[in-house]
Amino acid sequence: MSDQFSRTRRHVDPQALIRALRGGSRRALARAITFAESTRADHRVLVDELLLRLRDGDGDGDGGPTSLGQITHKHTLRVGVSGAPGVGKSTFIEALGLRAIDAGRRLAVLAVDPSSSLSGGSILGDKTRMPELSRHDQAFVRPSPAGTTLGGVTRRTRESIAFCEAAGFDLILVETVGVGQSEVAVAAMTDLFLLLLSPGGGDDLQGIKRGIMELTDIALITKDDGDLRAAAGRATADCSNALRLMRPRSVRWKPLVRNCSALSGEGMSEALSAMFDYETKMRANAELTARRQAQGSDWLRSEITEQLLSRFAANEHVQQVWRDLDSQVRRGDLPAAGAAQKIVADFLRGTQLDEC
Ligand code: GDP
Repeated sequence: MSDQFSRTRRHVDPQALIRALRGGSRRALARAITFAESTRADHRVLVDELLLRLRDGDGDGDGGPTSLGQITHKHTLRVGVSGAPGVGKSTFIEALGLRAIDAGRRLAVLAVDPSSSLSGGSILGDKTRMPELSRHDQAFVRPSPAGTTLGGVTRRTRESIAFCEAAGFDLILVETVGVGQSEVAVAAMTDLFLLLLSPGGGDDLQGIKRGIMELTDIALITKDDGDLRAAAGRATADCSNALRLMRPRSVRWKPLVRNCSALSGEGMSEALSAMFDYETKMRANAELTARRQAQGSDWLRSEITEQLLSRFAANEHVQQVWRDLDSQVRRGDLPAAGAAQKIVADFLRGTQLDEC
């Protein structure tokens, strides 16, 4: 642990870490994200401090304050990229990312590490899945384990996004494996939701829940090449029809469908243009700001819920009462709502005593 961010072996110097982060240090960014993902209480305190310092414009960097929930000092675009395993996400992100860098963006990818659920955390995930991006000096690729989280998205992903932006990355791709809820989670923390679909035609589309289609700003049919071309064409038509029936998320943006091949490169520039077009339109009328403000409120609400629940779960007295009342509810001796009221009242009483 002893390095330029640490005063001692155990103590991390937040100011040095912020300075390095603002200077664009990939190592500092990786450290900050590791702290954000950690479950250790001291790391949580550190991350809260880092985020506050970022907001206050601490450090020697060029930036002013970074408003976490809303808009950063630089314009950034946060994109959720979702799709079933095998749809071609990593091949697509690699091809799209290199084009985005050519267009002058600095790219951070918060990627899913698919091997981690089996191996318990593979550090080779990013290297094998997005080899060129992983080596590129304008890109940062960070794999997170898919197994233990909601398709790769965690409640800490928002913090990782903030750290990436502080380090000067202005295009953030958050990859998720489509598992239903992960799309909803990623759409709640990004500006643009990109859904990748493989050219399986109607069958494939049937599997996609209506709620997820409703979140989609841009749908992309992948693998539009070789033998799959005809199927890709049909899938595009099916998807356009499905999207037409959905209520769009924005009055200014009608969700669209494009097809592309990450292998041949066909359609990739058009996909990137569609994303930038979305960014321009949504920024022009401050809709991005409004969306980020609303996401800030959601973030606060979910943090309150999570923190209350974890304090609840950590309270031994509450657990005891809960267990007792649980058996009464199971037996039908007590209605669940009344039991819950008792447990919560007990918790609140205990909290007040704690604070005296
Ligand atoms: P992920 O699991 O969604 O990340 O999917 P991958 O990017 O690993 O791709 C899954 C498989 O689809 C691999 O065998 C890829 O080579 C293949 N694939 C990805 N993109 C394309 C494409 O544009 N065209 C074709 N024909 N195959 C592709």
